[in-house]
Amino acid sequence: METSSKLKVVVEYEKCCGAGQCVMVAPKVFDQREDGIVIVLDAEPPKEEHAAVREAVAVCPGAALRVDEGE
Ligand code: SF4
Repeated sequence: METSSKLKVVVEYEKCCGAGQCVMVAPKVFDQREDGIVIVLDAEPPKEEHAAVREAVAVCPGAALRVDEGE
């Protein structure tokens, strides 16, 4: 069995340009405010969301997202 890995979503809000790519890629983890700035719905998402979160980090045009991974 694979050990359960933890992943924490970290946002630098001042870098968020409201493009919404993260919401499209991982809608269970991200939402947007009315002005477009990202909202984190689940800062420690379950394992099945990790791939989507990593994808969101990769596509974020403002480089506003990153993940902290624990063990
Ligand atoms: S993809 Fe990045 S810049 Fe766009 S809304 Fe999400 S966090 Fe903000």
